[in-house]
Amino acid sequence: MGNPPFVPPGSGWPGDPAGPGTPVAHDPGDVVDLAAKAPDLEGLCARQSVCRACDRLVEWRERVAVQRRRAFADERYWGRPIAGWGDADPRILIVGLAPAAHGGNRTGRIFTGDRSGDWLFASLYRVGLAAQPTSVRADDGQRLIGARMAATVRCAPPDNKPTPQERAACLPWLAREVGFVAPSVRCVVCLGGFAWQGVWPALREAGYGLPRPRPAFGHGAEVELEPPPSVARRDPVLMLGCYHPSQQNTFTGRVTEAMLDDVFTRARDYA
Ligand code: SF4
Repeated sequence: MGNPPFVPPGSGWPGDPAGPGTPVAHDPGDVVDLAAKAPDLEGLCARQSVCRACDRLVEWRERVAVQRRRAFADERYWGRPIAGWGDADPRILIVGLAPAAHGGNRTGRIFTGDRSGDWLFASLYRVGLAAQPTSVRADDGQRLIGARMAATVRCAPPDNKPTPQERAACLPWLAREVGFVAPSVRCVVCLGGFAWQGVWPALREAGYGLPRPRPAFGHGAEVELEPPPSVARRDPVLMLGCYHPSQQNTFTGRVTEAMLDDVFTRARDYA
C-alpha cells in the first residue's frame, strides 16, 4: 500500500484540532462562510485544518506527503493545512507566510520540524516565550508561553510561493483568528515582508485602525495600531517587523540570533 496523502481528521494525531465531522471548505466562498460561522477559536482551527479550497495547494501538499523526502521516508506526513497554534489568549501573535513542505506539512504544527523553526523556537525559548528550545514533533511537549503563531497561507506552497489568489482565499481564516484573539493581543510580530503584507488586510477585517500609507517592512520596524472598537483596552497594539529566519537569511548572516532575540525581547516587554 502506498503512503497516505494526509492524516484523517480525528484519527489520533497529537494536537489534531479536527474530527470526522468538522466541516470542510471546498472553495474560497466556503472559507468565507465557514470562518465567519466558526463558533470559537477551537472550532475555527478545526476548520482551518481540513480546508481544501485551493486546488493547486491541496494537490501539492498531498503529493509531498506521498512522495516524502528521503530523510523522512519512514515518517507519516500530516498533509493538511496548518492551524493556528499556541496560547488561546495570547499577548503576542507571531505571523509567518506559509508552512514548509517537509516541516509543518510533515509534523502538523507550525514552524515545527524545519530549520527556520529551529532558529525561531531557540530565540523564543531564550526570551521566555517558549517552554523548550526546540520544536521537532507535534507530541514533543513544546508550548508557547503567552504567544500564538499563525500563517497567512495555511498550506505548503510549491517553491514557498503562494499565488495572490491563494493568499486571498486563505485570508478569512487569519482574519477570524486575529479577531478571536484581539482582546488579549498587545503585539503582532511579522516574520518577513510577505507576512507583513499578508497580515494587514486581516487586521483591517478584524477591526484594527491602521495607519495610512502602510509603513514599509524592515527588521525592527514598529507600527502602532488602534485596537478594534470591541476591545476594552485602548492603548495601541504594537506591530513589529522581523526578518524571516529562513536558511537563506541565517546562512548569510542577514539574521542572527541576537537580531531575533532583540525583536522578541521588545515584543515581550511591550506586551
Ligand atoms: S491555503 Fe488556506 S484557503 Fe487554501 S486550501 Fe490551504 S487552508 Fe484552505
